[in-house]
Amino acid sequence: MKKLISIVVPCYNEENVLSLFFKEVNKVIKNIKDKNFEFVFVNDGSNDNTLNVIKKLSIKKKNIKYLSFSRNFGKEAAMYAGMKESNGEYIVIMDADLQDPPALLTEMVKTIDDGEYDVVATRRVSRKGEPLIRSFFARMFYKIINRLSDIDIVDGARDYRIMTRKVVDSILDCQEYNRFSKGLFSFVGFNTKWLEYENIKRVSGETKWSFFKLFRYAMEGIISFSTLPLSFASIFGIIICFISFIAIVFIVIRTLLFGDPVGGWPSMVCILLFVSGIQLLCMGIIGQYLAKTYLETKKRPIYIIKEKN
Ligand code: UDP
Ligand code: MG
Repeated sequence: MKKLISIVVPCYNEENVLSLFFKEVNKVIKNIKDKNFEFVFVNDGSNDNTLNVIKKLSIKKKNIKYLSFSRNFGKEAAMYAGMKESNGEYIVIMDADLQDPPALLTEMVKTIDDGEYDVVATRRVSRKGEPLIRSFFARMFYKIINRLSDIDIVDGARDYRIMTRKVVDSILDCQEYNRFSKGLFSFVGFNTKWLEYENIKRVSGETKWSFFKLFRYAMEGIISFSTLPLSFASIFGIIICFISFIAIVFIVIRTLLFGDPVGGWPSMVCILLFVSGIQLLCMGIIGQYLAKTYLETKKRPIYIIKEKN
């Protein structure tokens, strides 16, 4: 029997590109004759016509599943839901905006079918067409997170990948509420082959990622996969204790030798501000972790489905 491959597509306000996306992907999978395909479209609370476009497609073709969230839960939740609802032996995750070149599918399917790899993932080797400042911060982010955490996150890695059922099940087993898939993909391990391609601009519509959203996502990643920032407080504490010990010795000796000249309040104020700044910073870091822990303990659902077929 032919193996079934599920293509999971998270969609948020993609009415303009969906039909084109569907057409382009079909062109490619038509030529992969030894596999069956199903689409799992996840409408992530779009406020345009996305759901209707998906429904129309699903009337025309039988191999389309869709689920629609009660509101926008984010791409992470959409991917999770899509993987959960998929039945394929292999699962592909793919953006709706054709930034993930469908042409790569042929090679991805072939490679994973050979059996040596459990995951065939993609990364873009360039960030052409992206604002420079954004690329700069993205690069910094990868450097920082790889230093801080045990897992290895590849620069430019996309969510576009094909995985075996086993890999997907292990990802679904990570039931945390604060999901950072780039980290989870790496956390679950397995043999991964990387395919590379040049960055492609989105065919239509706009990216849903503002700079601020990306920044929050980056923080999420660091907090999810490293507890090292929590030890900043102790490190700062030790450094400051050490400095102040030297300062005390210095001041005692100076007073013994030269008497006690009054004054020095400006330096006092500087030290006070510096130390309280560090204290607030450390409290803030602890607060971030506390907040995430708080959200996790609530065990709220990762997504809520309003309707599906
Ligand atoms: N997406 C989603 N929920 C969101 C934001 C994005 O399901 O809250 C989907 C979106 O429809 C697209 C994919 O995630 O299929 C990637 O989004 P986008 O193209 O905006 O991100 P970028 O390619 O700029 O990283
Ligand atoms: Mg995109």
